[in-house]
Amino acid sequence: MSHPVQRADFDRYMVPVFSPLEMIFVRGEGSRLWDQAGRDYIDFGAGIAVTALGHGHPALLAALHEQAAKLWHVSNYYTNEPVLKLARMICESTFAERVFFSNSGAEANEGAIKLARKRAIDRHGPEKIEIVAFNGSFHGRTFMTMAVGGQPKYSSGMGPLPEGIIHVDYNDIEAVRRVIGPRTCAVVIEPVVGESGVVPATPEFLRTLRELCTQHDAMLVFDEIQSGNGRTGNLFAYMGYGVTPDILTTAKGIAGGFPMGVMMTTEAIASAFHVGSHGSTFGGNPLAAAVACAAFDLIRSDAVLAGVRSKAERAASRLRDMATSTGCFGEVRHAGLWFGLQLVPEMAGRAKDFVTVGAEEGLLVLQGGPDVVRLATSLVISDAELDEGLNRLERVCKRLKA
Ligand SMILES: *Cc1c(COP(=O)(O)O)cnc(C)c1O
Repeated sequence: MSHPVQRADFDRYMVPVFSPLEMIFVRGEGSRLWDQAGRDYIDFGAGIAVTALGHGHPALLAALHEQAAKLWHVSNYYTNEPVLKLARMICESTFAERVFFSNSGAEANEGAIKLARKRAIDRHGPEKIEIVAFNGSFHGRTFMTMAVGGQPKYSSGMGPLPEGIIHVDYNDIEAVRRVIGPRTCAVVIEPVVGESGVVPATPEFLRTLRELCTQHDAMLVFDEIQSGNGRTGNLFAYMGYGVTPDILTTAKGIAGGFPMGVMMTTEAIASAFHVGSHGSTFGGNPLAAAVACAAFDLIRSDAVLAGVRSKAERAASRLRDMATSTGCFGEVRHAGLWFGLQLVPEMAGRAKDFVTVGAEEGLLVLQGGPDVVRLATSLVISDAELDEGLNRLERVCKRLKA
């Protein structure tokens, strides 16, 4: 085992569910990464909206080092200081009165769905189990969350799926009215769709969902795993809409790159769960919670959130100019530092080429489906890194157009 690891080892040793690009990153600082050969890349993907404060942030490193030297894990036979600090911080900053910690987004959604089902069955009986969800949505890769997600390519060929899930089109309130009813226990929605191209819900849509859920005593569940934690310029996207869910899930950016998921709810709803109703071995362990405390405290600050809004405007105006000058994409959708560049019809299906050619030009970008280039920068990206990344993106556009 003395030879250095290389990309070929991925194909040799890993279960083939991913096909990573050729380079292997070994170091990161701010919004820049370096590969094994010492080449640098501007990071406009943030590890899929996870490294919200960039790479190697001093406050996160300090929190990690400090906690690592003290205590890593004690189990849920006991509680711990970092998790209690984090819980208090989240409840002070959001609608939440009770929180449950997991290690990932999918697990946070599992908790939300179990809670919604249990509450509905306790209150109304065993028929109230239906979940309304949306075509194109993404909620994770566990059995339940892939079934609730609206992308059959992820859930087909795996045998029977959990029952009681109904999908309708996003932003189509009449379609929701047709399927919601006394059997509905929850409506699960991303307030801004991430994986399918950074598509925001209309405010009327979310407002009407709120009314319908209240009317049918169904839980309005916002999956803010990607839209949360400052991404949109609000701490959570629901705050910008002024529509408060009953249950909110988040993960990705909340600990700046350390695995952490959260399910938030009210005291009354949380009381449907008792000791033993749900659990997790690693969820809320001191190490993850300490890093999350440091990250979330920065993310919720006015300085960071105002920075997201101003950097987003700077990037959006440059991207609109680039749309015209390069002719690669038309609509520039954005919610804070989260962009969906809708490729023009003649470039349709080529979002993946932006990922590969981007890497050749030293730029990391994401896809949002086949026709959308998705960007999710660090929330604290410097103006110099932002401008350098946009210059590289312009070169990518010109190469792909040629
Ligand atoms: C990433 C994501 C998930 C899944 O999170 P994991 O941590 O990969 O389990 C769920 N919902 C949304 C909206 C996401 O973006």
